[in-house]
Amino acid sequence: MTQARIGLIGLGVMGANLALNMAEKGFPVAVHNRTTSAIGEFIAGAGDLASRLVAAETPQALAAALTPPRAIVIMVKAGAPVDATIDALKPHLDPGDILIDAGNADFNDTRRREAALKDEGFRFIGMGVSGGEEGARHGPSIMVGGAAEAFSEIEDIVTAIAAKYQDAPCAAHLGADGAGHFVKTVHNGIEYADMQMIAEIYGLLRNDEHRSPAQIAALFDDWNGGPLKSYLVEITAKVLAATDPGTGHPMVDVILDRAGQKGTGRWTLIEALKLGQSASTIEAAVGARSWSSAKDLRILGEDTLPRAAADGTGPVLLDGDLERALLAARVIGYSQGFSLLAAASDEFDWNLDLARTAEIWRAGCIIRSALLDDIATAFRGDLPGHSLILAPAFARLLGDTVAALRRVVARTALCGQPAPALSSALAYYDTMRTARGTATLIQAQRDFFGAHGFERIDKEGDGHHGPWGMG
Ligand code: NAP
Repeated sequence: MTQARIGLIGLGVMGANLALNMAEKGFPVAVHNRTTSAIGEFIAGAGDLASRLVAAETPQALAAALTPPRAIVIMVKAGAPVDATIDALKPHLDPGDILIDAGNADFNDTRRREAALKDEGFRFIGMGVSGGEEGARHGPSIMVGGAAEAFSEIEDIVTAIAAKYQDAPCAAHLGADGAGHFVKTVHNGIEYADMQMIAEIYGLLRNDEHRSPAQIAALFDDWNGGPLKSYLVEITAKVLAATDPGTGHPMVDVILDRAGQKGTGRWTLIEALKLGQSASTIEAAVGARSWSSAKDLRILGEDTLPRAAADGTGPVLLDGDLERALLAARVIGYSQGFSLLAAASDEFDWNLDLARTAEIWRAGCIIRSALLDDIATAFRGDLPGHSLILAPAFARLLGDTVAALRRVVARTALCGQPAPALSSALAYYDTMRTARGTATLIQAQRDFFGAHGFERIDKEGDGHHGPWGMG
């Protein structure tokens, strides 16, 4: 059988495009898919690249098409299908072979798989890939976790297929075991938050200012030429400008307002909570998608629950407020995401390079934006508590934009327009700039009903109690 440099299992949307990308960069790829009819169809549609693709009808044939130590990319549905694929492959592998899970795995699964496969003599890489179909085909952002020596054997392929930012590949080995998949999960969490913030600004423009999708599209298009420049703002403009060919209506107006989610946003929250963190903008975004599913309830609520909106005396937005508010909230969303990465890095001894992480998100991935270059620069400097909002450049930027975020959040509240992500961003910002917070009262309450004890500002120790029983 013709020998290939790398194998790939899973010719769905991502796997097929990743295989074409590798073939285009000159690497012969042996391909396999559970439903074997997809293999021939894929190669038949590959045009000139077909000569670099080797059809493998079975896991055994895939192994036979590769020279040990083999490298095989698994790009199947996350969860049990990954374990099933590994189990089907294992009898045909040799010690030292490298399996690379390139799907959106839960990093806990990646850690488990890596440990189990290591015991059996295999090497395992958890590789987060972002950029959707287009990215997989022409250059995604690639976040790698696992043993560095295993990665070194496929590094030439990974850097060749990755997106490039000013010629630098947007791919990096970030840490051991689940580091790559964790970073990919948080990337998706930030993506959820950013999308929700954009949707909230759109909601204000649509419902409060009664602007048409075309008018809002023009605004986003304009913003994409400034500090908000990003893939998500760019596609928002395109989406809002699109017309439904069937009805002639703006496309966005004929789409049902129920958002789906596959789990990475939820995973981000679960891991944040386990680490004692709160990525509140991501929480708000995941929650908003859940609320969007309650369509029947919302239809009932619209007739039942009074808006009781203010009388129109609320803050009037100034020119540029929406753009500045979105920028402030975006910085805060990123900041929460990076704080979570820093906490996980400490917990799992990954020694994550946050500047490098920001750098590999500058091209190829869904959250690529003009801000990421400045974020990388900030993390290269001395940053207190890894907190992005405390970096001098971002503290200055927030100083210039937070007043606009306040007006926008106040406006949404007073006109009854939900803005959970924007308002949680503002609440986080205000919490982080308040040296003496209100947890003083929470501690007193906890001690009152549960004798939990508290720390005092004037004495050592954490077991102090209040005089609650003294009437
Ligand atoms: P997809 O188009 O739905 O393809 C799913 C693939 O998984 C197919 O090859 C399918 O094989 C295979 N599969 C499903 N169940 C299987 C099982 N039990 N055993 C073996 N193979 C099985 O999915 P996709 O969009 O390419 O996503 C693949 C992975 O990439 C997922 O982890 C996804 O979360 C991640 N991802 C997706 C995107 C995106 O934008 N789509 C972006 C980044 C990451 P059959 O043909 O036999 O069904």
